[in-house]
Amino acid sequence: MSAQGFSLFDLCASSLSKTREFEGKMDHFIYRQGVLHAEDVPLPVIAAQVGTPFYVYSTATLERHFRLFDEALDGMDHLVCYAMKAASNQAIIKTLAALGAGMDVVSGGEYMRAVTAGVPPERIVFSGVGKTHSEMNMIISGGVRQVNVESEPEMELLNIVALKHGVQVPITVRINPDVDAKTHAKIATGKSENKFGIPISRAREVYAHAASLKGLKIVGIDVHIGSQLTDLEPFALAYRKIAELTHILREDGHDIKRLDLGGGLGIPYSRSNETLPLPKDYGDVIKREVGHLGCEIEIEPGRLIVGNAGLLVSSVIYVKEGEGRNFLIVDAAMNDLIRPAMYEAHHEIVPVKEPLVGHEGRTYDVVGPVCESGDTFAKERDLANLHDGDLVAFRSAGAYGAVMASEYNSRPLIPEVLVKEDQFAVIRPRPTLDEMINRDTLPIWL
Ligand SMILES: *Cc1c(COP(=O)(O)O)cnc(C)c1O
Repeated sequence: MSAQGFSLFDLCASSLSKTREFEGKMDHFIYRQGVLHAEDVPLPVIAAQVGTPFYVYSTATLERHFRLFDEALDGMDHLVCYAMKAASNQAIIKTLAALGAGMDVVSGGEYMRAVTAGVPPERIVFSGVGKTHSEMNMIISGGVRQVNVESEPEMELLNIVALKHGVQVPITVRINPDVDAKTHAKIATGKSENKFGIPISRAREVYAHAASLKGLKIVGIDVHIGSQLTDLEPFALAYRKIAELTHILREDGHDIKRLDLGGGLGIPYSRSNETLPLPKDYGDVIKREVGHLGCEIEIEPGRLIVGNAGLLVSSVIYVKEGEGRNFLIVDAAMNDLIRPAMYEAHHEIVPVKEPLVGHEGRTYDVVGPVCESGDTFAKERDLANLHDGDLVAFRSAGAYGAVMASEYNSRPLIPEVLVKEDQFAVIRPRPTLDEMINRDTLPIWL
């Protein structure tokens, strides 16, 4: 428990099983009568209807996390733009948009997902390192809050496309502040060696260039230094540099009225990092570092909103006794959840049926059926004694889970389910094998 009276993570500890300790908890996946529930729905009920594996999300957790960010910026003119690349199902977007969320999108596909879910264009921010001509056409036709420009060639092309449409596109320039985010190398984006943004040392020059382009309208500055940050210091360093830059650019005559401060606040994936900074602490850093500038603030959280709002539920296929090792072979695999293979990520794995007090556990390597040694979710994990057919849940799987899935090994994309109190709905069905295969088309000579 933190000082604020809630924890960012609850491990379905048996102490929670007695009560509906929902108030102030990080998520709404708890044991009740010995069975893991998503809000008021027992997971075996969903499994019986949709089959395993599947992703399940809690509406209450999604809403709670969005509100934590919104409240953290209370008193400042602000917009929380959900970075939908973390989980981009229409139902998730609609749930958050209904609370007033904006969206941070990084492709034409994500832009269309936002528009299709009914998000007003003036709440959509377009980010990304390699925006194409056709994506620029799409967002200029449909409307956009602002484009976060990442390079000078992109700026020039955006200008040309804007002039062709006879409009001025609101832009920020993404600044690379050269700050070490102290996170996994694959998700650090704010060091000068990373491909993202424009070096802060060149900012004045690039803003001067942008100001000379008639199709663009400078509205502010953008920064995003990485994902899964577990410490506030890199944010503080980056935002301090952005504050200094704001003064300098204003002196140069630019109208800096909006700061997009990116996403990246980390979530606890295991018991050992339960003391991570909370959105409130993060909001305090923002207020301290840039609050005096009178700018409108945008933030782009993805992982923290949806990460602990989702589980991956899987069945045990076999328990295989190896030499000195037990393998728990489950029906989910790296194609469904690639984070362990790609980022060496840790996910807590819990049995859906709560082990009885005093139950002797067992140690397993938890693996999927895919033909790669990398298809290993966990090594030497202490779990309950499990059997064929038992259900297990991978926690903290809501972000960068379903969206990164593939059909490798011709395993159809797994379904997504959204729970709200005692209701649940399939929000993306599992394709049939025919549907999967019939996406292929044959050339005339075959
Ligand atoms: C990925 C990304 C985010 C979201 O990062 P999280 O760690 O999921 O909060 C926000 N903004 C940009 C530009 C991104 O690329």
